[in-house]
Amino acid sequence: MRILLLIAAIVGVFLIVRTLLQSTNRKKPGQPEQLKEQGAMVRCAHCGVHVPQFEAYRSGKRMYCSRDHALADDSANSQD
Ligand SMILES: [Zn+2]
Repeated sequence: MRILLLIAAIVGVFLIVRTLLQSTNRKKPGQPEQLKEQGAMVRCAHCGVHVPQFEAYRSGKRMYCSRDHALADDSANSQD
């Protein structure tokens, strides 16, 4: 009976380790979904770089990657 218990314990440990390895592998395909949850990407109206909406600077209806580009585009528009 002791041998059966030992085999059962080994099989149990093997199954636990395999489950842990599978759960760590499953996290990798989940990363792109986390990017979606961060919000939409917006395009800088000045240089065209795409930045997350929560990091973007808004000036009127336009979105910018940085405060400098928002100010630069504002000054360019006012000159027209
Ligand atoms: Zn920009």
